[in-house]
Amino acid sequence: MPRLLLAPAGYGKTEKIIQRIRQVLAEQPLAPVIAIVPNMIQAAGFRQRLAAAGGTLGVEVHTFHTLYAELLIRAEQPIPLLLDSVRIHLLRAIVDDLCQQGKIRHYAALRNKPGFISALRNTIEELKRTRILPNDFQTAIIGSDVRLEEISQVYSAYQNWLQEQNWADNEGRGWLAAIALESNPTLGTDIRLLTVCGFDEFNPNQLSVLSLLANRARETLITLTGDIQHPQRPAHHRFHRVQLTLANSLHIQPEAMDSVSLLAPAIAQVEKTLFEPGLARNAPGEEAIAPITEDQRAPQNDPGSGIAGIEFLEAQTRSAEARAAMRWVKARIVRDGLALNDVAILARDLEPYRPDLEEIAAEFGIPLRVVGGQPLQENPAVAALLLLLSLPAEDWPRQSLLEVWRSPYFDLSEYAINASEATLLDEISRQGRVMAGLSQWREAFELWEKCQVLSGEDGDVPASKEQGDRVKHAFETFVDLLSPLAHTSRREYVAFVESMIGDDPDLTSHPSLNGRELNAVACARANPSTAERDVAALRAFKDVLRGLVLAESALGEETVSYADFFADLRGVVESATFSPPAQVGVMVSSVLDARGLSLQAVALLGLSEGEFPKLEREDILLRESDRAALCERGLVLETRLHGDEATLFYQAATRARQHLLLTRPYLADDGQPWEASPFWEEIHRLSKKPAVGRVRPEDQLNPAEAASHVEWREATREFDIPMKNGVETLIARINSKAGGKYEGEMFDLSERFGVDYTWSASRLESYGTCPFEFFVAYVLELEPRAEPEDGYDVRVLGSMLHKILEEFYGGKALEVAAQEVFAAAPQAYGFRPTPLWEVQQKELLKRLEETVAALAEVSQGYTPRALEAKFGMGAPPLVLKTEAGEVRLHGYIDRVDAAPDGSLRVIDYKSGGAVISAMHLKEGRRLQLPIYALAVQAALGLGEVSGGFYWHIQKAEASSLKLENFEGGIRAAFVTAIAHIGRHVVNIRAGHFEPKPPTEGCPFYCPAVNFCWRYKKGF
Ligand code: SF4
Repeated sequence: MPRLLLAPAGYGKTEKIIQRIRQVLAEQPLAPVIAIVPNMIQAAGFRQRLAAAGGTLGVEVHTFHTLYAELLIRAEQPIPLLLDSVRIHLLRAIVDDLCQQGKIRHYAALRNKPGFISALRNTIEELKRTRILPNDFQTAIIGSDVRLEEISQVYSAYQNWLQEQNWADNEGRGWLAAIALESNPTLGTDIRLLTVCGFDEFNPNQLSVLSLLANRARETLITLTGDIQHPQRPAHHRFHRVQLTLANSLHIQPEAMDSVSLLAPAIAQVEKTLFEPGLARNAPGEEAIAPITEDQRAPQNDPGSGIAGIEFLEAQTRSAEARAAMRWVKARIVRDGLALNDVAILARDLEPYRPDLEEIAAEFGIPLRVVGGQPLQENPAVAALLLLLSLPAEDWPRQSLLEVWRSPYFDLSEYAINASEATLLDEISRQGRVMAGLSQWREAFELWEKCQVLSGEDGDVPASKEQGDRVKHAFETFVDLLSPLAHTSRREYVAFVESMIGDDPDLTSHPSLNGRELNAVACARANPSTAERDVAALRAFKDVLRGLVLAESALGEETVSYADFFADLRGVVESATFSPPAQVGVMVSSVLDARGLSLQAVALLGLSEGEFPKLEREDILLRESDRAALCERGLVLETRLHGDEATLFYQAATRARQHLLLTRPYLADDGQPWEASPFWEEIHRLSKKPAVGRVRPEDQLNPAEAASHVEWREATREFDIPMKNGVETLIARINSKAGGKYEGEMFDLSERFGVDYTWSASRLESYGTCPFEFFVAYVLELEPRAEPEDGYDVRVLGSMLHKILEEFYGGKALEVAAQEVFAAAPQAYGFRPTPLWEVQQKELLKRLEETVAALAEVSQGYTPRALEAKFGMGAPPLVLKTEAGEVRLHGYIDRVDAAPDGSLRVIDYKSGGAVISAMHLKEGRRLQLPIYALAVQAALGLGEVSGGFYWHIQKAEASSLKLENFEGGIRAAFVTAIAHIGRHVVNIRAGHFEPKPPTEGCPFYCPAVNFCWRYKKGF
């Protein structure tokens, strides 16, 4: 008769099982013993504990999936397992086929969306786990929503394929194992002892196999978390449900396990009281549960004391929280002497913490075992490979190709490609405005050659012509190397990709003969600090490739395009994970994966509101209403909304036997306060509200707590000079007010910008807008390095519109002027027209017609007096007396009109739509108009100016800033401008260049946008 033993968490249920196994083996050393645990992590942990207790000889540790396979082998009915990669592929092929036949319409739009095929796989898995056959499902959904009909079609096609091919998935093996047990009454009768522990749920498949096996084994021992005295404890909600299911299926009654809590007193007390309606249960005959006492609580300010207990810690961000938790973990290992495998970091949702934890563990020198692995596509070696393979599929995009040439993960030396070739290719492609496509690349090389010839004709030495030729040759060789067959089988494409990756030099003594390889594995091995991780990822990548070949063998070979093959490959890599080899390390896991494990110390992260308890969501394919309807028709699919979060928290908090750290971030990503989770509040209340440690960025770390060399240096402030400078720089730059020697305070520049220097209005406006922008653009003389783009940018647009208006007011018909400028524009201004160019020309001409009409309207009574009038630059400059002394200026004035009274009006065309108001002049950011008006009077001597405005060409209207309307009149505008000009020049000469992002955001043309620490996004 099977026995079901109940005990709360931490009462040594696994020990009990191990003890019993040891007893049986002591009596019968070769007796067959089978232990079933929920997953591979627990299987590994169980084996370790078994080994530590004296040996595993004769004991088979299984999950249900491996047990199914074992039973089928024993029944001499082995059946090949459908690997997950092949299963995903198969489902994708089935969905495509059904879409083509018109049998899937509702879900057709989702078929290529990430996650859809995985969701289908999970649904089919659930149906099979629940033992619902395709025909039963089909019958039950008659008259239901078309959604369910489509799922049913996929399920039937999938199941038919498996049966035709005589393959099975894991759940199918479960069915077959149960059938084998039913048809073979002796199967499993040799089992001396069957043990089951660590579960908090059983699906119908598992129950069916377990109930058959449990009654055949000579002895069956099942342990489960629970409390016979208090079966309805809220924390045991999930376990109680399982207990009832087991009792019904196996016809057994639970017994209380004779044991005591093995948890540290503080954790044990929390275990007893968690989620209880009152701290004391004083029902007749029941023992009162006392709240935690002072001596049961761990001291808060002495983390290295080695005293067991519960600690609470809040940190400003997730990243700071992860660092503090990892520091605590290191203290448990170093100070308390715990083994790495005895410590774990858990979170309800691990993903937001995983990257930080990995980075910090590397800094602290702590090996990690990340349960569930890391996303394969995030590994840098695999990302580089995908980028390389994407080149022919995505028509040789410029940026990706340059990244591949510069990648440390490929050895391109055999093709004469190195860093200097990549730099020159970058230059050539920028000059040729390459975005993608071999024709654009080849055009760019031709253009480069022409430019070399021209510069040679001018008498210059042709710059790097030979080098340019070498780069062109290397480019063509690279393209040949990477050009796969246009249409072939997946197997051939996989061979092509394998040849690109190359052999692992540590495993192969002879080089590959195919002559294609880029030695990706050898390159990955070249960096010792990342070699292990990258080689593991590349191996997992090769497994993905093998899966594709296997899928093709199973589904039948077909010819596909390379783009389709690459899309398949990328799809599978997106859902694949890899695990760097680590037999020993601190476990990092989600709470779900860690259920049933027992550890000495656990840090439980993310106890802020909304994180844990997590909001339960209904399944996207089988909704709660579908489940209810199916239930009415006799198919029992469990709800997804069990309300089990309290049990999961109970399980997580009781994984630690000695030390438990609870942590949470107190600020959300948007900087708003983040409330604590109710679970945090509950456990804190039960612990009598001890002090909560708070990690704030402004607090200095106690050097004794430093967990890495970097932390120690930071804590002791023992910096060398470069580090000191770095720290000072960072402090200056995170200060909200810019200033000081790290914030644009430079050297004296009075010589460079002395009295002979001639200023343009735009340079002074640049200083007035942001002094650091002026410094980068005009002192360092850096130019923005924008990526080539299709079509023209706003600066080209401005030049075209100015030129057309100049030609028009010079006497040409507007349409003729526009046609001539547009025809020459791509060559003259250097842009690659898009297919919209024809339409854009018509649109621009229409705007110009409107602007000319509107300008004529506001110019009634005025006569043009000068167009494109130049001052400075060979003509007399404008000289202004300012606080910086005499300042000389130059420029081109778009237009000067004369009023009937002879006074003049200055107009400057603007192609952009940004509002220009009097405020901009008052702030010293818009000085052009008054400078031009002053130049008309003083430099050009055309007469007195009485007004002026900017003309917004595209809006066909004047700016709100009008000189004549400026507060105090045009004279006040002049005085204001001259004051700003003087101040700007004084400050420039003195070297004051602090960054000052404009309130409306930084201009896209600022050359510092890619590196400026004060950059502010525009709207
Ligand atoms: S990015 Fe912004 S703050 Fe930085 S220099 Fe340019 S305009 Fe100034």
